[in-house]
Amino acid sequence: MTKYEKIKQDLLESPKTWLVTGVAGFIGSNLLEHLLKLNQTVVGLDNFATGHQYNLDEVKGEVSDKQWARFSFIEGDIRNLETCRQAVKGVDYVLHQAALGSVPRSINDPITSNDVNISGFLNILVAAKDENVSSFTYAASSSTYGDHPALPKVEENIGNPLSPYAVTKYVNELYADVFARTYDFKTVGLRYFNVFGKRQDPNGAYAAVIPKWTAALIQGEEVFINGDGETSRDFCFIENVVQMNILAASASKEAKNNVFNVAVGDRTTLNTLFNSIQNALEGNGISNSNGPIYRDFRGGDVRHSQADIKKAIELLGYSPSYRISMGIDKAMPWYIEFLSK
Ligand code: NAD
Repeated sequence: MTKYEKIKQDLLESPKTWLVTGVAGFIGSNLLEHLLKLNQTVVGLDNFATGHQYNLDEVKGEVSDKQWARFSFIEGDIRNLETCRQAVKGVDYVLHQAALGSVPRSINDPITSNDVNISGFLNILVAAKDENVSSFTYAASSSTYGDHPALPKVEENIGNPLSPYAVTKYVNELYADVFARTYDFKTVGLRYFNVFGKRQDPNGAYAAVIPKWTAALIQGEEVFINGDGETSRDFCFIENVVQMNILAASASKEAKNNVFNVAVGDRTTLNTLFNSIQNALEGNGISNSNGPIYRDFRGGDVRHSQADIKKAIELLGYSPSYRISMGIDKAMPWYIEFLSK
């Protein structure tokens, strides 16, 4: 039995109360679905800045009535400390996902990204510490590696941030570390690398590459590649991210006050990604033979990204069960259905 399976069994036997912030978003709603399926009690907090009620409705349809009854939702903003205090009341485990994602969004509006991602983070952190929750896991980001040239990325070696978003995520790590030293409140940061899967929003100016291209190909629209297409990423399917959150929440004392890469350890270029999505859609009866249109590189983007996942394997027992192609195959039918509604 893997560590993950063992922890899930333990959770089924003695359920916990979890707070998932950003619960109406992509990662948050997937965490919610998994936790409810494990018969956990979940409090969700979201202000619908980028999340959607229909994500919560979809989760409701995926779980039993009894499981859904264990979910309570607070519509509120992490920039409000009182809301955060209310949300953490009686909670065992916090999974903090709420933030404004997207490098370009932060370049266009650094002030709002700073308020939500730094002040909001600090509010949740303070509220969780004061409530004495037994574990606090937060969404960090691979953007923290910035301009550090080494590949694969090892947690200890980071460069200079390349965007306001990267600054905010790095500041989260700094606060987390200071809270461990100052208040003995130990947390776990998860540096996500380009997560993808069902319920990742394909709409809007700040959509991530996989949902954006998938939607464009399904709808017969043009796909743009920023740069020459040889930019690479370590795309990580959502199931691996759920696994890491559940492992991190149950982390031993020694594994706490740490950050971990959350990825697969693969490197996929945008050109390869485009072909994979096109082929997977074709396998689902959606054929679009248009090639991508290349345009200028985008400011703030790192050229290559690939994670070293040894630390997560060794300290948390992580074993990513999905590589990119399996994840794409799982995600495509969901997008086809979602976009036909
Ligand atoms: P998402 O936009 O789908 O989800 C974020 C959620 O947070 C949304 O539901 C949004 O409404 C909510 N939110 C935003 N501001 C809020 C506020 N002020 N108060 C309360 N709720 C608020 O994005 P996601 O991809 O699910 O990202 C989740 C977390 O993972 C974020 O912290 C993001 O920075 C981080 N992350 C994501 C990726 C990725 O590839 N998706 C990569 C690295 C890090």
